[in-house]
Amino acid sequence: MEGGRLAGEGLGGRETPVTLAKGLIERIGETGGDAADHTAALRQVMESIDLSDLDAIGHRVVHGGSVFSAATVIDDDVVATIEGLVPLAPLHNPAALSGIAVARKLLPDVPQVAVFDTAFHLTIAPEGVTYAIDAELAAAWQIRRYGFHGTSHAYVARKTAALLGRPAKETNVITLHLGNGASACAVQGGRSVATSMGMSPLSGLVMGTRSGDLDPTVIFHLHRVAGLPIEEIERSLTRSAGLQGLTGANDMREIQRRREQGDPAATLAFAVYSRRIREYVGSYLALLGHAHAITFTAGVGENSPSIRAESLHGMSALGIEIDESRNTRGDRLISPDAARVKVCVIPTDEELEIAEETRKALVS
Ligand code: ADP
Repeated sequence: MEGGRLAGEGLGGRETPVTLAKGLIERIGETGGDAADHTAALRQVMESIDLSDLDAIGHRVVHGGSVFSAATVIDDDVVATIEGLVPLAPLHNPAALSGIAVARKLLPDVPQVAVFDTAFHLTIAPEGVTYAIDAELAAAWQIRRYGFHGTSHAYVARKTAALLGRPAKETNVITLHLGNGASACAVQGGRSVATSMGMSPLSGLVMGTRSGDLDPTVIFHLHRVAGLPIEEIERSLTRSAGLQGLTGANDMREIQRRREQGDPAATLAFAVYSRRIREYVGSYLALLGHAHAITFTAGVGENSPSIRAESLHGMSALGIEIDESRNTRGDRLISPDAARVKVCVIPTDEELEIAEETRKALVS
């Protein structure tokens, strides 16, 4: 469960929200984890922070399918609809449902809101979400691009417009969320028009342990020729691929260290990772026609000057340049003043955005 609350205001307040406390309860239900189950986890939260004047709880739900285009106040019907979406996100939605059930049980008088990772991307045009497969199969099994990390992309695109001193509605941004999971998004006037993750968070950019884009034949080949069961292929592409698969390490800091020592696998992984980003940036520039900014965020995006520099290398003819000293210093704006396309680094804050979306859902 993730949540946040807004300080110093009622639900209708317009002050800038601030984070009062932050915490993480990990590996719930696992041996050696922080809590035995979700009930125990929420009890820990209730003991460690004062929840007496709580206005609402915001739940991050990974998959909202084609149904939820905005954060939604939770009732029994909403829970049933999220349950119906479990086949689309079997690894993610059940955990969110446990969090919701426990929070509704322990705090029955507090309104609860579901904030979906997919919602921001429901503005993408049909041609951007339709896979060119048998249309009847696709319709029968809800197969299409959904996209994820929507809360983060929405938040950093808005923050980018503010940094540039432009109205969000007139600003085009390519946002690059590079954490353990990674995705790119083209945001036109505050609306998502393209994103790299697809039906699941497995496609698109190279990630810590996920492959990103692949020819589907890789899967048939691993099954038919290598004899791997389908579950094993899914596990491999989800947990033993990406940086992990290429080097045995999923942490970009480790890859960078090995690369500096001349390790060939780390050098290749770094290059594959950055090139994939460059390919998406190029394609999103083409889709947008003009981007005012490219923004890096999340663990790698916020902290790796070398990935930022390598990802956008050689694009000066497209108006994209990085100022090396700004980049290594970790400024918010890392392009030279005269650059046509601004390059920014904006720390994401998904919990704060979930709190803001929760507030909006309750006042609307
Ligand atoms: P999550 O997607 O789990 O929220 P984060 O956004 O925190 O993760 O990203 C975590 C990743 O960020 C780490 O696995 C690591 O690869 C990368 N990272 C963190 N700090 C640095 C750094 N200083 N340099 C390069 N990469 C970093």
